[in-house]
Amino acid sequence: MYRTHTCGELTLKNVQNEVTLAGWVQTVRKFGAITFVDLRDRYGITQLLFNESLNPVLDANPLGREFVLQAKGKVQERSNKNPQLATGEIEVIVTDFTVLNKAVTPPFTIQDDTDGGDDLRMKYRFLDLRRNAVKRNLELRYAVNRSARNYLHENSFMDIETPFLIKSTPEGARDFVVPSRMNPGQFYALPQSPQTFKQLLMVSGYDRYYQVVKCFRDEDLRADRQPEFTQIDCEMSFVQQEDILNMFEGLIKRIFKDVKGIDYPEKVDRMTWEDAMWQYGNDKPDIRFGMQLCNIKKPASVFVEKSDKPELVSGVGFQVFDDAETVLAIAVPGCSEYTRKQTDELTDWVKRPQIGMKGLVFIKCNTDGTYKSSVDKFYPAERLKAIADAAGAKAGDLVLILAGAEERTRKATSELRLEMGKRLGLRKENEFKLLWVLDFPLFEYAEEENRWVARHHPFTSPKPDHIPVMINNSPVIDNAAEYLQHPYANIKANAYDMVLNGNEIGGGSIRIFQRDLQEKMFAALGMTPEESQHKFGFLLGAFEYGAPPHGGIAFGFDRLCSILGGSESIRDFIAFPKNNSGRDVMLDAPSSIDDKQFQELQIKLDLKQ
Ligand code: ASP
Repeated sequence: MYRTHTCGELTLKNVQNEVTLAGWVQTVRKFGAITFVDLRDRYGITQLLFNESLNPVLDANPLGREFVLQAKGKVQERSNKNPQLATGEIEVIVTDFTVLNKAVTPPFTIQDDTDGGDDLRMKYRFLDLRRNAVKRNLELRYAVNRSARNYLHENSFMDIETPFLIKSTPEGARDFVVPSRMNPGQFYALPQSPQTFKQLLMVSGYDRYYQVVKCFRDEDLRADRQPEFTQIDCEMSFVQQEDILNMFEGLIKRIFKDVKGIDYPEKVDRMTWEDAMWQYGNDKPDIRFGMQLCNIKKPASVFVEKSDKPELVSGVGFQVFDDAETVLAIAVPGCSEYTRKQTDELTDWVKRPQIGMKGLVFIKCNTDGTYKSSVDKFYPAERLKAIADAAGAKAGDLVLILAGAEERTRKATSELRLEMGKRLGLRKENEFKLLWVLDFPLFEYAEEENRWVARHHPFTSPKPDHIPVMINNSPVIDNAAEYLQHPYANIKANAYDMVLNGNEIGGGSIRIFQRDLQEKMFAALGMTPEESQHKFGFLLGAFEYGAPPHGGIAFGFDRLCSILGGSESIRDFIAFPKNNSGRDVMLDAPSSIDDKQFQELQIKLDLKQ
């Protein structure tokens, strides 16, 4: 037997016990003739004490960091206790030990505050994984996984695996493809999600399916994306949107309870996509704080009907606002005393290329009831007050105003709101606010191709009332500049996203389950009948054999873990992640393959560089 106990479990109760431990040498400290070793394993650290009598053996077998050591000895109470450690009240007086394996000096210290940089730690990920901080993240991940599985199992969901080698049907992201040796010239794709399989399982009658499953998308990696990531993927039959929202609200609440000990108190808030865009400029609003966007100029877009505020800024000679498609304001609480330096800094912030605005207008709502603005010249005090009131500003607040093209301005104001929320400490790490965003548009306009694409995916059902709009109108867009006037722009989907603290953690929809409607959907996306048959004939065919009404959702498992763990990066919660260029620097993958492999695949490389 290699060990009788782990390095995390011995306490005063074990004093006088004979034990054997096995683990890694964290530190070796010599005090005169005595040697102390901190021995680490997955469960903790135990102090070993080597008396003088062992010195000849230690001299013959010097211990180094990360050596794998087995030590036998007796537990005794420590004189110098360490309250930080679970095992801090005891130590083991070693009587006998064996070096099970030596280690070369690790390239960084295996400690919470390691001296290793990101790249080095990625290269030696197996060592990084020994660190407590990383281990805690993986433990949290496993806890979320267990909690989800328990909940889903208790609710009659069945875990069913679906294949990884499938047919390439890119819609949305790019597929990763895999050449087939046995079918030369043909390729599999790795699934972007098990979407069509879970729908087929519904046709097969497995009315509650789930899978914690890898998905693969060959996208350019923005900061927090991985080419392979994990979803908690679910599908249910005989359900309407309300059933799905309730079931999966329950799932997330259960995870909060099991993993964080939090009783999520309320019913999860709900907001339509239009309201989210209108009030927060964003389809995944962080509702931990207010500071909502106020449209102070009538918008021209789909939101035109939302504007109930009077026109507040046009027609007084301030060209910037007169010319702008959109003018948006937010009221930042308690910041009326910002100095010139601070407002200049904010102006620079909105002018950064990532935000892309030309400038920033502000109104200081002074506590004495006066108003001071960078556009005093154009707007008399009553008008400044009217704008400030519309934005919901109180005395002591600072109103920030951005103007320009609608989409960009909305996005920029949303970013500015989040930034101010962060600076003012309103985005608290330990506060969790869930939100369902509902009624997404079914279609999105793809400018480059001048056609409609599915905003969620092509299997999402339109709202029942909107089905005739889809069926009775041609998808053709005659005038690209006026695509918003096309009837398709207003078709809403039976689709929903779950948002947590400003992050989309899950999304899904009620599906189309009739062949003819699905065919119409493919046609609306610009596919010919031959193309839809070639790509999705299997699904269209299946819909003819008794497909039940169904719908589902998938949660981004990595992201959910990172938010629950209070981290910005999903990479911290993945055992072996890729870097920002999609490389595994530990394996040095992707890499070239042998000529023999190319020959077997009957593939010739013709690289363009
Ligand atoms: N398969 C979808 C996705 O990956 C989720 C769903 O509709 O269930 O986004």
